[in-house]
Amino acid sequence: MIPETSERKPVLEVRDLRVYYETPKGDVRAVDGIDFTLYEGEILGMVGESGCGKSTAAMGVLQLIVSPGRIVSGEIILNGIDLLKISEQHLRQLRWSRLALIPQGAMNSLNPTMRISQQIEDVIREHELKEQRLSKVAMKARILELLQWVGLPERIYSMFPHELSGGMKQRVCIAIAIALNPSVIIADESTSALDVVVQRVVAQTMLKIKQALGVSMIMIGHDMGLMAQMVDRIVVMYAGNIVEIATVEHMFAHPAHPYAQMLIDAVPSLRERKPLKVTQGITHDPRNPPPGCIFQLRCPFVMERCRTEAPARQEIRPGQEVACHLYELQPDGSFNDVRTSASDS
Ligand code: SF4
Repeated sequence: MIPETSERKPVLEVRDLRVYYETPKGDVRAVDGIDFTLYEGEILGMVGESGCGKSTAAMGVLQLIVSPGRIVSGEIILNGIDLLKISEQHLRQLRWSRLALIPQGAMNSLNPTMRISQQIEDVIREHELKEQRLSKVAMKARILELLQWVGLPERIYSMFPHELSGGMKQRVCIAIAIALNPSVIIADESTSALDVVVQRVVAQTMLKIKQALGVSMIMIGHDMGLMAQMVDRIVVMYAGNIVEIATVEHMFAHPAHPYAQMLIDAVPSLRERKPLKVTQGITHDPRNPPPGCIFQLRCPFVMERCRTEAPARQEIRPGQEVACHLYELQPDGSFNDVRTSASDS
């Protein structure tokens, strides 16, 4: 069990990060002012529908946003260093060594013309200091050790990507990500293209690595079932904003934001046969978000206030923060759900 937030050491702090994409009709606000903290040894899940900005947020943290995208503002503090204030050379040193990525679609991220051993070696050589240069024998031993960590046999060492299954390729990507013992790994939909059995193997590999190496992880995805088994806390994103952050226990026992409630409601259950719920309304134009709450066009509980006043994120109970006007602070410091008080009166 992870300790309470106040006892944990932050590894990565993201403050007011904004990433926009330029289009002829105006900027698309893919990430529009998000704040979150990743703690030491924690797995933070990031969920939301396609296009909600979760992958863009990850690419923003890694500063791998390509034109016409750009980071408009924010702070990305990794182990005390603001990544937006350092040189490109310094940033390149920190990528992989402190902050690594397990990319979306391993099939496309490995070089098809290079053997697996060479692809892992390249990452290590790129970052090793001259005076600590590994000998050929030591390098081979290190690569075999990494392959063993991710549960791959030695023969993979001299194989090409096309000779491997999807799950094996994904595990090679994990081996590359841990090659330099980073403090943070971002896994971007790293299991979504795999079948459920292979998905489980890859997920178990990531859990084993997190426990053994003490690395912190951000896991991006939309499989709430997988999130429930793997992560410590869940960040829910909608239209470039974070609408709720909660421990996995709070998120599944009593999700607070109407959008988070819809996501949890959509998780299929073996015990209960229920009709698939369809969310009403449409998402707003990302170039022109409405004033007030960004979820107002789809929210079944929308109130007058929601149309004009953007809700601030507030901690409604320890380990659960939500941005929604449904929760009102009471004189005793607790929060009241206005839906409950309305039905009581
Ligand atoms: Fe719905 Fe209003 Fe809450 Fe937004 S602030 S999620 S519109 S109730």
